[in-house]
Parts: sequence; structure tokens; C-alpha cells
Amino acid sequence: MIDPVLPTYARAPIEVARGEGCWLIDAQGRRFLDFGAGIAVNAFGHAHPELVAALTEQAGRLWHTSNLYRVPGQERLAARLVEETFADTVFFTNSGAEAMECAIKMARKFHSHHGNPERFRIVAFEGAFHGRTLATIALAGQEKLVKGFGPMPDGFQQVPFGDHEALRAAIGPETAAVAIEPVQGEGGVRAVPPQCLKGLRELCGEHGILLIFDEVQSGYGRTGKLFAHEWAGVTPDIMAAAKGIGGGFPLGACLATERAAAGMTAGTHGSTYGGNPLAMAVGEKVLELMCAPGFLPRVSEASGRLRQRLEGLVAAFPDLLEEVRGEGLLMGLKCRASNAELVARARDAELLVVPAGDNVVRILPPLIATDAELDEGVRRLEAACGALRAAQAA
Ligand code: PLP
Repeated sequence: MIDPVLPTYARAPIEVARGEGCWLIDAQGRRFLDFGAGIAVNAFGHAHPELVAALTEQAGRLWHTSNLYRVPGQERLAARLVEETFADTVFFTNSGAEAMECAIKMARKFHSHHGNPERFRIVAFEGAFHGRTLATIALAGQEKLVKGFGPMPDGFQQVPFGDHEALRAAIGPETAAVAIEPVQGEGGVRAVPPQCLKGLRELCGEHGILLIFDEVQSGYGRTGKLFAHEWAGVTPDIMAAAKGIGGGFPLGACLATERAAAGMTAGTHGSTYGGNPLAMAVGEKVLELMCAPGFLPRVSEASGRLRQRLEGLVAAFPDLLEEVRGEGLLMGLKCRASNAELVARARDAELLVVPAGDNVVRILPPLIATDAELDEGVRRLEAACGALRAAQAA
């Protein structure tokens, strides 16, 4: 008999009862160090007092009005995002996939608005992940995402990651945009080198096509900047954000320049819940905390410490681990052993980490992790590696 919850997830047998900072406590009272952070979501850990206060204060006043009326929190948060980023305008969504849907629609609308409706194709990269809606699975194109859900909507194609020639060849008179994650998350924590992002920016300019960054996972402080592309000194025309933006409350955003958003006039796009007052109250507080002096530099400092210790782990377990990847606190351990087994062994050691493509274990601590917590996480990973090695030898 089918489970009352549609069985689309292979869930680990943990029943989380509550969270405190970087820690999750299960129904049996076991304390897990959460280095998955809800898949790069809980930037400020669990039950952060200022986020709880922002949400509960708003909950006592007003939950929802729809977008038929002005939502002051949207106006404030959009203005702050415009101040902090390349963008001139923001559309709020409930998730990352919806933010990418908005980006896709906006890119197509841009060209049709300028009299070129034939320019509708969007080029993406192998290994990418952009969400689970029909358009976002078609954009990423991975077999495991699209299998059985065909026919896919037309106008999406993928080129191999890092293959500049293939990218040039894929661009034609029907190309509307190129979409890329500055650091591929699900695809195995693969960072795009800054010079490639620069080259991509130039290529898009040359051909009059839009550049879309998917910073759903790499954004919001994960790499030590508000958005990962800032390290490369290039800006997109359109960008999707989500995950960390709501610190655990469902929120996403599609940010764009005025030029790119030209066709998005009243009635062209919408969402009942997008930018709801509860989400905005949390989103405003998250951005305030993230932009506080010293917060993002601390992420970079924490990253250096974590990377150094993970390098030590790779040196100690060359039979199981190949290399450390990633930026900031979006780190990956490329494995020689099975990544799924290492994730399970880490869970036994009461450490939560997340598998990714390319046989990688993702390490995504809350951005507030202390040095002691980072060190404890690596100690637990070491214990997990030790247990895995012993099991393999047995
Ligand atoms: N884009 C990227 C880069 C992601 O990592 C994800 C989720 O993991 C998404 C889009 C989809 O976000 P959501 O699951 O909130 O729809």
C-alpha cells in the first residue's frame, strides 16, 4: 500500500524533534551536528532568536493578503536587495524552482518584448540542478530528473561543464540566455572559475543574450560573499535566489536589471503566496543579520579553517577520499568510497552531511558555526571515515 506521504524521498530514519543553532535533537534525544543545514538553507542555524522573534511578531499581526494589495515588507526587502546587489527589481517566490521559472520566463519575455520571439532557447550545463518543475528539469536536462516526465518543453539544451567550444557552438540566432550556477551544488560542488564567468559575461554581451545566474544554493553568504558571483566581479542580467534567503522559511527571489525585466509588466507573472508578509518579515531580518559588519568575513575565516581540516582528512584517508572542493561553507569531499556510505557512517557518528552528484559528500554547516563546532564536525567525519575503512577491511 502506498505511503500516505507520496514516497518520492529516500528519507534517513531520523525523527527530528527540535533544533538549536547548529544542532538537531531527535525524538530519542540524540544530538546531531547539522552540517547539511536543510540543504544550505539554515544559514543562521535552528531557532535563531531574532528570526523567531521576527516571524512570531509578524504572525500576531498579519499572515497573508495576496499580491492584490501593497505588501510593505516586499517593498522594503526588495529595496534592500537592490541596494546590495546588481539588481534593479525583485520578484518574490516561495522556492528556488519558482525563482528559476521566473528567470526563464523573463529571459524569453525580454526577447519577445524586443520583437524577437524566436529567441527562446536557454543553454545550461551538464550536472546542473535548477529545481523540479517541468521547465527547470528541462533546463538542467539530467536523465535522472527528466526520465518518464516527457515530452519536455522545447527550448532547453545543455553543454558539458567547462566546455567553452561547445558553449560557443550551442549559441545561435534562437538563443535567449545562458543559465549557470556559479558553484554547482547538487552536481558535486563544482565551482566555475572566475575567468570563465568573466568570459561568459563577454560572450553573452557579444551575442545579445541574457546571462542568468542560479544562486539558489551558492548565494546568501554561502561562499563568504552575499552572492558567489561577486568573487568574479561580474554580474548577471537575471538571478535566482532562495534557500538561505529565508533562513528556513520558504522564500525565493528572482532579481533582475531594469533592462532584463522590461517585458514583465502587470499581469505577466504572479504567485498567490510569493512575498507573503510572514516570509518578508523573516527575509528582512535574515538580510539584516547577513549584512551586519563582520558576518561575511567570518564565513570566509570559518571556510579556511574547515578546508584545512578537511585537507587533513583527505591526507589521512586517501583510500576513501580524493579531494576537497568548494568555496566558503559550500564544501565537498570528492570520495573514492561511496558517498552514500560515508553519509550514513557520518549519521552513525551523529553528524549530518548531504550527498551530491559526482560521488561527493556536501558539507554545508550553518554560517554561524563556531570554530569548536567546525572542529567537532571534522572529528565526527574522521570517526565516520575510520568506521568505513574498518568495515571495508572486514
Ligand atoms: N537551483 C539550485 C542551484 C538548487 O540547488 C536548488 C535546490 O537544491 C534549486 C534551484 C531548487 O530550489 P527549490 O528546491 O527551493 O525549488
